[in-house]
Amino acid sequence: MAQIRIENVRKEFGAFTAVQSSSFTIEDGEFFMLLGPSGCGKTTTLRMMAGLELPTSGEIFIDGEEVGMKPASQRDIAFVFQMFALYPHMNVRRNISYPLLSQGVPKAEVKSRVEEVARILRIEDILDKPVGGLSGGDRQRVALGRAIVRRPKAFFMDEPLGALDAEFREHMAEELRALHDRMGATTVYVTHDQLEAMQMGDKIVVMNHGVVEQFGKPQQIYDWPATKFVAKFIGSPPMNFLDFEGMIGIGGDSVELAGTRIKVPVSRQGAQGALTLGVRPENIHFSDGSAYRGRVVATEYLGTTQIVTLSTPNGSIKARVSSAEKINPGETVGLDFASHTLTVFSQERGHALL
Ligand code: ATP
Repeated sequence: MAQIRIENVRKEFGAFTAVQSSSFTIEDGEFFMLLGPSGCGKTTTLRMMAGLELPTSGEIFIDGEEVGMKPASQRDIAFVFQMFALYPHMNVRRNISYPLLSQGVPKAEVKSRVEEVARILRIEDILDKPVGGLSGGDRQRVALGRAIVRRPKAFFMDEPLGALDAEFREHMAEELRALHDRMGATTVYVTHDQLEAMQMGDKIVVMNHGVVEQFGKPQQIYDWPATKFVAKFIGSPPMNFLDFEGMIGIGGDSVELAGTRIKVPVSRQGAQGALTLGVRPENIHFSDGSAYRGRVVATEYLGTTQIVTLSTPNGSIKARVSSAEKINPGETVGLDFASHTLTVFSQERGHALL
């Protein structure tokens, strides 16, 4: 197991900066997600931690040891790629044994370690089958087996489930997480899928344009997004943004929206001018008594809940409410926002003021 720490790590490719100076710590045994849209620098960050790419500047520590110049082969880590390359002419046992045999591990030990891994992955019954005829899921398990059998300090996974269809992907995600919980090895996992990151991760780093936007537990990131980018990238439908001109003082706990006072959590930073109130769709409630009103534009039935699109004085928003609420397009409804869940952003810089 391993603690991995990166400090002010930066990567340039020629004149292009793929990763701006970044710092965070992955604790021993954590399932850690690098999350962000395509091209944000998550793979480059992972490759630098793994030793497949040299940082332009900054330091990387594994268990306190600076490993910046150490090649991947000496970092005692294992990679699991999306396109799992197995040796098609070998059977499952041989595929899993291969890394140990090539390290010169004695045959008896190889046998017992392969069988232990097969038990963990529940593939004992296919050990002697050729990999050619296996299902996608079994192939993925064999690829994992090959990574696990070396007992590395940490696993690095770059969109390992990216090629799978949605249903199977969910199943394998659960398996991977359960496997991690049984083995406890530090795992760093790259994904652009916010749901996957929320479901699987102990901690998440959210990146955008080479910048670490936020780093924390899934719930912290969901409840207290540090930037508008994070607020929009996480959650479906994403957080609503209600733009307004106004002010909030340091320690202030309300803002004025279209003449209505809206209570918000206490502000850490004061600001004046162009602000944005952030409200998650599930934190909007219909209330006849509320002076803040919206007109129903559309409803989308999702079973127990429905998504209601509303036009407000501060722009279009989406609310997630019970399907038992009877509402029709064209109606005007009072809107209550669950105060303790609101956040306020500066429009110019996009960061949260609460
Ligand atoms: P994706 O999910 O699309 O792989 P990502 O977030 O993993 O995205 P990276 O692969 O880290 O992003 O790439 C970040 C940026 O750096 C991209 O704009 C990419 O084109 C660029 N880049 C990556 N590797 C190189 C390279 N070897 N030379 C030049 N530019 C590169």
